[in-house]
Parts: sequence; C-alpha cells; structure tokens
Amino acid sequence: MLQQTQVKTVLSYFENFLFHFPTLESLSQANEKKVLKLWEGLGYYRRARNLLETTKILVKKHNSKLPNKIVDIKKLPGIGDYTANALLAFIHDQPTIAIDGNVKRIFSRIVNKSETTIDLLRIIEKNSKFLFKTKRNSDFAEALMEFGALVCKPKEPECFKCNIRSSCKYFKSDKKFKQIKRLQPLEKNYDIFCSINKTKNKIALTKKHNLGFLHNFYLPHIRETNTKNKIKNWNFHSNFKNSISNKKLNINLYYKYSSILPMQSQWFSLKTNSEFIPTFTKKIIKQISRLN
Ligand code: SF4
Repeated sequence: MLQQTQVKTVLSYFENFLFHFPTLESLSQANEKKVLKLWEGLGYYRRARNLLETTKILVKKHNSKLPNKIVDIKKLPGIGDYTANALLAFIHDQPTIAIDGNVKRIFSRIVNKSETTIDLLRIIEKNSKFLFKTKRNSDFAEALMEFGALVCKPKEPECFKCNIRSSCKYFKSDKKFKQIKRLQPLEKNYDIFCSINKTKNKIALTKKHNLGFLHNFYLPHIRETNTKNKIKNWNFHSNFKNSISNKKLNINLYYKYSSILPMQSQWFSLKTNSEFIPTFTKKIIKQISRLN
C-alpha cells in the first residue's frame, strides 16, 4: 500500500484491510471485487491484484510462509528487486538493503559523488561487515528509509541534526556534487465521452480502453486527444487536470444524453455503486452528476 502513497493516506486503509482480512489465509480466499472495493481510492490497483495473487501462491505452494531466497520471492507477482530485498530484511532479518531513490541519495551524499557515477552495490558489498554489524538487519532497513525521509531529505538535508555527519563527505566538502534531476511526469491529453441516461440517472462505463494504468477497470469512453478529429454530437463539459501514476493528464470532458447503451459498456448509477470503480472514474462521475 505504501508504494507511491503516503503513510497518512494508507493508515485507515491498512487498518480496514486487516479488519476484513486478518490472516494470509483469509486474504487468499477473498474475492477480487471485495479486495478492490477495500482498496478503492488508494490507486495503483495492480498492487491489490498482485497482493491477492501472491497470498494464493504463498498458501498453495509455500505453506503460507514467505520464501527466504531472493530468486523465489521475485517469482511472486509484482515483486521486483526493491520489494524482494525489503521483504528479506523485514521478514527474515537478512543483511540486505532495499535500494530506492532515498538510499541512492544517502550513499551518494556520504561519498559526495553523483548517483550515476557510483557503483552502489559494490559500496554496500565492500562495507557489508560495517553496515550489518549490529545484526539488526530489519531495523537497519527501516532506519535507512526513515533517515532518507526525515534527515537526509531530497532537498535541504538536516546535516546539523545528522549523527553521521563527521563521516559524510557531502557535509564536509566545499564542492558538493549536483544531484540529478528526477524525470518529469509525462504530460498527456485525453478526451473523455460520457453517455448519460437521464431518465435512469446512469452513466455508461466500459473496460475496453487503451489506458494501461487503469487496465481492466471501468471508465467512460476515453481516447487520446487528436486535434485532427473534430468532435461532433457531444457537448463540451469542462477541462480539468488529473495526476495518475507518473502522468499528468489534461482532460477534456464531453457528454451527451442517450438511452442507448454504447457497445461493450454497462450502465452504472450516477449516485452509488456497490461495484468497485476507480477514483479516476468517480471524479468524472462527480463532475457529470452536477449536470442533473
Ligand atoms: S551529513 Fe547531511 S548529507 Fe550527509 S548523510 Fe547526514 S544529512 Fe545526509
């Protein structure tokens, strides 16, 4: 849940999730619709599907235990190097570091060299006796994450509070290396078309669209803006911006009233739906509902 999402947002979801699925076994038997409903609003829904799939595999093939070898952990759905190493440290207390942007920044500051010029894995390996000497590997992995978030922050690190500043070349140097700029989010333009059944107060949604980041979820008809195609027979509603995954979306919203259900679509209430609907679609429904 914490991937790309802040702790304060996750807390209530996490507690509610554990209330419904207190054990690995209970989650493994859950229905995907229920899992997605409980995840509704958190975004990045692939995480929920992967988590559900992972619990099924762990129960069936691993006696409800997380494997303790990185190759086996990485075979689980959606688990790459970072998560696999974090799990090895947190669950099995193994001496390893989950390398993300925070960890790269901390180490590159300590040696005062750009992330692109250092071989971080080599540095960790060379210093492993020192790094893992306390044998509190789980605490160490978590401490590094906290250290990157609270002390050695991306902008304006709190060096005067830092208890390793006497060993930090960045702190001591007059020539501090320049940090590389992170990739800017991708900007995309989309047109969204909402067919509204006015008498029944419903909107047509479909899973047939090309949006990879909301693959297999219900959306109104959506397509990338193509200035060559004139839009006929639709009323312009509004233009709005939305950020999703690493994309900034500029959206033109159109609507029309019609009782004919578009192909490969289903009617959904403009008020409440028991079926899971992603937040992206809910925002659109909210805007469109103001029409009535
Ligand atoms: S002294 Fe400053 S730059 Fe160096 S590790 Fe500590 S917080 Fe980061």
